[in-house]
Amino acid sequence: MKILKFGGTSVKDAGHIRSMVDILARLRTQESGGFHVVCSAMKGITDQLITIARTAEAGDQSYKAQIEAIGKRQQEAVADLFAPEGLDDRDNQRLTSEVLAALARKMNELRDICHGVFLVRECSLRSLDLVMSFGERLNNYLVARYLDSLGIPSVYVDARALVITDDSHGRGVVQFERTNTRIRDYFSNQVLEGMIAVITGFIGSTEKGITTTLGRNGSDYTASIFGAALGCSDIEIWTDVDGVLEADPRVVPGAQVIDDLSIEEAMEMSYFGAEVLHPSTMLPAVETNIPIWIKNTMNPIVRGTRISRNPSTTRQSRVTGIASIPKVTMINLVGGGLIGSKGIAGKIFGALGRSDANIIMISQASSEHSICVVIREEELTGAKKALQSELAHELRVKQIQNIEITPNLEVVSIIGGGMRGTPGVSGKLFSSLGQAGVNVVAIAQGSSEMNISLVIHSKDHSNALQAIHRGFFAPDAQDVTP
Ligand code: ADP
Ligand code: ASP
Ligand code: MG
Repeated sequence: MKILKFGGTSVKDAGHIRSMVDILARLRTQESGGFHVVCSAMKGITDQLITIARTAEAGDQSYKAQIEAIGKRQQEAVADLFAPEGLDDRDNQRLTSEVLAALARKMNELRDICHGVFLVRECSLRSLDLVMSFGERLNNYLVARYLDSLGIPSVYVDARALVITDDSHGRGVVQFERTNTRIRDYFSNQVLEGMIAVITGFIGSTEKGITTTLGRNGSDYTASIFGAALGCSDIEIWTDVDGVLEADPRVVPGAQVIDDLSIEEAMEMSYFGAEVLHPSTMLPAVETNIPIWIKNTMNPIVRGTRISRNPSTTRQSRVTGIASIPKVTMINLVGGGLIGSKGIAGKIFGALGRSDANIIMISQASSEHSICVVIREEELTGAKKALQSELAHELRVKQIQNIEITPNLEVVSIIGGGMRGTPGVSGKLFSSLGQAGVNVVAIAQGSSEMNISLVIHSKDHSNALQAIHRGFFAPDAQDVTP
């Protein structure tokens, strides 16, 4: 059995949904073990839902028009998919009205919730999760009914009944024991025999049934949760590029597909910003050893990227890929009192943890005169407050002179299993950046030696990525020797 996940661009309108269905119809004739499908919301809908919630929270009535825009997009897809011709076809008409009525019920629920947000002028992360869940719920229902209408028996599955998380809204932590049991119980039901489950990506619920989400891009993760729980042979992530590429193709147009990636490399690529995969996608597959494929819905004949425990590679370069995290800020704690002082690092990380800031990168000068941490821009206010309160004493007695903030930065990472014990890699990285005139603000190397990360100014984004790509991947680039 396989799990196939289709992302927002693969289901963004009726035309794309048809391309997806072509892939499924072909697979049905080939795959004797069967398969199930996970879909995202249509491209852009989750962003729109967030804007709607925030607009309503601000007391601005224009959120209503934005809700209607979402409804219209659904209706257009239904009109195109279910009744392109043959208005006299009674069955089709009945089905169309049924689907439209079910979608309208969901839209009414969304209207009610947003009206509540508007009235109380407040949208907690918990309410935001509920609002965001509609993107996947509307779209997967639509897809399931469309498959059914084509004679491909399908069932809509709301993953909130199966994926159980804690109550960390916005990035729910999956409770695997309960989740796996629920998924296995559900799929052992004989009624599902021969049916394709069309499962909502991205969403789950707490044990008490409160809606949660798995973090942006989380539908990839949903696919691997189901894939692992059901012991699938493969997990396929269908998207709008031919696989995981050496770098973001929007910035580095010459980036090529990486045929095979190890699980660790894929984790590092996604953690350091390659949004083609949610960073947690690999977690369930690590234990189960299920290969994850990245494939292109609009170009299905291309093989794609295979992510597995033991990838077969005949790579020319020791660096596998380049990724970047935009919109980060560096907090630099400076002070002679940091030298040899035990426990300060613990206090710093404790305070940042309590403020809910996610530390992307740490670097400490060997003189111990400064400690620098890199976090996302939006987490700065909370992080700074937490540090000022935790380190009030050290700041007063000047053990720490200052908390310096440098905004408008970006983390760039080079990743590759072949980098271990290869000193020439750093030299080449910095000479590539030097030649391109890019100023490096800070550096860190992970202890796995599978990545080297550095901080640059945001304005150097394209220049830096293109220079690094040229340095390691241009046809005439010389490989570094260990
Ligand atoms: P989906 O809607 O299918 O989930 P996403 O937009 O989340 O797709 O991810 C696919 C996009 O990720 C690609 O269109 C590409 O622009 C971007 N991307 C960034 N880095 C990479 C990379 N290294 N390889 C492939 N795609 C990447
Ligand atoms: N729809 C969600 C998002 O936009 C999840 C996903 O697409 O994977 O983040
Ligand atoms: Mg995605």
